[in-house]
Formats: sequence, structure tokens, C-alpha cells
Amino acid sequence: MAFDTLTCENCGDEFKATSGANAAQEGYCSPACPTESEGLI
Ligand SMILES: [Zn+2]
Repeated sequence: MAFDTLTCENCGDEFKATSGANAAQEGYCSPACPTESEGLI
């Protein structure tokens, strides 16, 4: 199983995700990350 190193669209942290995983598709390090971002806008 391959892991991709991605950069979170919100906080800029690098994180690893399996290809095709939800996290990779969303582009965030965790499901909570974009949610927290919206709360600050
Ligand atoms: Zn993040």
C-alpha cells in the first residue's frame, strides 16, 4: 500500500495518506481541520 505525503490545504502541515483515501481527496490533514477553519472566518 503506497502512502503519499500531502500538504494540508488549511494549516499547511504535511501528512501522509493512502492513495484514494478520503483525506487525500479532501486535501486536509484531518476532517476537523477545514471545520475549524470555517469557524474562524
Ligand atoms: Zn490541517
